[in-house]
Amino acid sequence: MSHSSPPVRRVADWDFDQLSSLAAEHGTPLYVVDLDRVAENYERFASAFPDAHVMYAAKAHTGRAVLETLLDAGADIECAARGELQRAIQAGADPDTLQYTAVNPPDADLDYAAELGADHPGLTVTGGARDTFDRLEARGYDGRVAIRVNPGIGTGHHEKVATGKDAKFGIPYDEVPELAADLRERFDLVGLHAHAGSGVLHDDLEDHCRAIAKVAELAREVGDSDLAFVDFGGGFGVPYREDEEPLDMEVVGEKVREAVGDLDAQIKLEPGRYVVADGEVILTEVNTVKETPEATVVGVDASLATLIRPAMFDSYHPIGNVSAPERAVEPVAVGGPCCTSADVFCTDRPVARPEREDLLAIGNAGAYGYELANQFHSQPRPAEVAIEGGETRVVRRRETMDDVTRVERESGDRAGDAAAGDR
Ligand SMILES: *Cc1c(COP(=O)(O)O)cnc(C)c1O
Repeated sequence: MSHSSPPVRRVADWDFDQLSSLAAEHGTPLYVVDLDRVAENYERFASAFPDAHVMYAAKAHTGRAVLETLLDAGADIECAARGELQRAIQAGADPDTLQYTAVNPPDADLDYAAELGADHPGLTVTGGARDTFDRLEARGYDGRVAIRVNPGIGTGHHEKVATGKDAKFGIPYDEVPELAADLRERFDLVGLHAHAGSGVLHDDLEDHCRAIAKVAELAREVGDSDLAFVDFGGGFGVPYREDEEPLDMEVVGEKVREAVGDLDAQIKLEPGRYVVADGEVILTEVNTVKETPEATVVGVDASLATLIRPAMFDSYHPIGNVSAPERAVEPVAVGGPCCTSADVFCTDRPVARPEREDLLAIGNAGAYGYELANQFHSQPRPAEVAIEGGETRVVRRRETMDDVTRVERESGDRAGDAAAGDR
């Protein structure tokens, strides 16, 4: 049952020679995704839950190569938007295996789901608001549905902040039995669903399991033998800091099974982050090194447009000096070329002292990394190179200025006539 792949991959575990040659060949900033690692992470997760149905939550990384890898590894795909459904199908997913979690769904997304469901009765649509079901019914949809439950459990010190936000997700716990009875008249109610948190590591695991236990209890109240599945979502964390320990998935598997208890329905889980996070790094070159009385500021060519998590969520991402890992470590701030003070990856961080033109690797960039990349400052988005079975290939070419301006030019605006320049 236990898998031999290491439970975590740190920046230092990447092959620095390979990373250097990829940067030399493809330029920086560059996303490098190791598809073998992505498959390993999925397999380790799935083997910790041998009786569960594991779906990959596509929104963590919807790259086609990632989706293909996970489909090949046997994962089904959970989608939270029309575009994700379309990309999963383009990558080869059987629409009858897809699950669509509709969060405040736009009309166009429900139109698409209803049409897809008409041809593919295996599609499951999960709703977290009563009117989502009404809107589905108005589109002639009477297929498989699941209720997204708000388990009403926030985590520790964030509870006050989280409660209001959490109301966005799911049907209030106490309203579920009555809604279930109603939906059974109108649809094929196949499951309950809850996605309680994200980035759950050791300290949060108890709370996460309490939420799971509550949802399992609700499933029994609603009638678990009449449900095909109970889906406990994703949320399993990875260690971003070098001194954090990874989850022991065998232990997590035990705890989750214990929390679920007797259940006459299949357990589903939907990891996103866990599967892709440590399978990808960003390579970035040092442009500037500036000594100031307060700090040594290292300017790199990646920015919050490349990786927004530090600016958006205060996320920690490990940073290693690929060019000179042996140099003495010094506390530095690392930031990009965007004109906002939010554009820093770290401050006061010990890194093997960077010098101009060094190559740095920003680790754990696979989850919500490229997915949230943007073109702020008219920066073309980076290329992405995949490593698979000892081979490397470009899976997303680097954008050009032509890509950045194309939609304007195609709108017939005069500005579009100006030579865009290629880089
Ligand atoms: C985001 C999301 C997931 C995946 O969450 P992770 O924290 O990346 O594991 C799973 N299910 C649903 C419904 C989600 O919205």
